[in-house]
Amino acid sequence: MPENVVIIGSGPAGWSAAIYAARASLNPLVFEGTVKPEMIPLGQLAFTTEVENYPGFPFGNVRAFVESAVDKDRHWNLPPAPDHKRDGVHHYAVQGVELMELMKQQALNFDTRVMEEDIIDVDFDSSPMRVIPANGEPIETHTIIIATGARANYLGLDSEDAYKNKGVSACAVCDGALPLFHGKSLAVIGGGDSAVEEATYLANLQSASKVYLIHRRDQLRASKIMQERALNHPKIEMKWNREVEEVLGDGNLVTGLKLKSTVGEPTEELQVGGMFVAIGHTPNTSFLKGKLEMNEKGYIQWSKAFRTNTSQQGVFAAGDVADDYYRQAITSAGTGCMAALDVERFLAEHGH
Ligand SMILES: Cc1cc2nc3c(=O)[nH]c(=O)nc-3n(C[C@H](O)[C@H](O)[C@H](O)COP(=O)(O)OP(=O)(O)OC[C@H]3O[C@@H](n4cnc5c(N)ncnc54)[C@H](O)[C@@H]3O)c2cc1C
Repeated sequence: MPENVVIIGSGPAGWSAAIYAARASLNPLVFEGTVKPEMIPLGQLAFTTEVENYPGFPFGNVRAFVESAVDKDRHWNLPPAPDHKRDGVHHYAVQGVELMELMKQQALNFDTRVMEEDIIDVDFDSSPMRVIPANGEPIETHTIIIATGARANYLGLDSEDAYKNKGVSACAVCDGALPLFHGKSLAVIGGGDSAVEEATYLANLQSASKVYLIHRRDQLRASKIMQERALNHPKIEMKWNREVEEVLGDGNLVTGLKLKSTVGEPTEELQVGGMFVAIGHTPNTSFLKGKLEMNEKGYIQWSKAFRTNTSQQGVFAAGDVADDYYRQAITSAGTGCMAALDVERFLAEHGH
């Protein structure tokens, strides 16, 4: 028997789609992917520490709730609780892995089936369609929800890797307001729209004292109006023709950047408490190339406004894989819900 719906991906979009599909008795099957250097099951939030902007999770005694909700055999995956205490008990905002384990648990509680496996190919021409796992037999299915997300691009420096979550971030909107960055000078790396937007966002935070925008050329690629906003901002200083050679730190936190010149000037050191890399994202769509309509950056294109339909009948897309603009956990969860509702209607209309 073909599946009603196969969901590919295990971030907020995938689990929200699974929760909705399972509660609609569609018995969803989720492929959550395997561990790879830049992609892990549970999605991008599994790479981060505290998530302060996901509604419903204010500071509190989060760990007690997480341990009470998540199956004991997955407690090994929970990171240590941050050391903020109130009345002797850890109080903090939910951590990325905790939030994702809670979403997965909610899907499991409604009998979602989960396979720790990558999908490496799809066959949309057969009827029913087929998804092909890296190991194992092809699976027939009436509908597919693609929720494979996107990965933030980094510079690829060892020192950058060493200070991820300790001052190095790829998301100003997500992390800029964290106490870690309060009162500090910050650096944004890049020259496109998102770099300029991130620099302006950080500069507008009361907590940031100054923002350096570091670009390897002598002009920005961002749109004129955004450039003007950044270049005229009293807290933003441009560092033209500069590339990060090394992220400097004290072993715990970022303390500065070593910047080399792209035009032969001497290397300089900049004191900053945070580096925000804004050099784009790569959507996880390589296994879909030529099979679905995508934009020039490789993001899947929705074919109807306010719907999650793609160019292929019965195939829906949710989360960052179809969104190169908002890229937030809450928006991904929202479109995951939409995709499941779209699947439910599609199956009903097609008599399944
Ligand atoms: C460091 C960092 C911090 C962030 N902090 C915040 C924050 O504080 N608040 C916020 O709202 N947002 C934050 N974000 C953004 C947020 O994580 C993303 O918007 C959100 O996770 C996107 O969800 P998604 O479900 O679309 O996909 P993802 O979270 O990207 O998950 C997709 C997952 O699907 C799986 N997958 C991919 N390809 C395949 C395949 N072929 N087969 C099977 N499985 C596959 C992988 O395991 C992948 O991880 C942060 C992002 C980063 C990188």
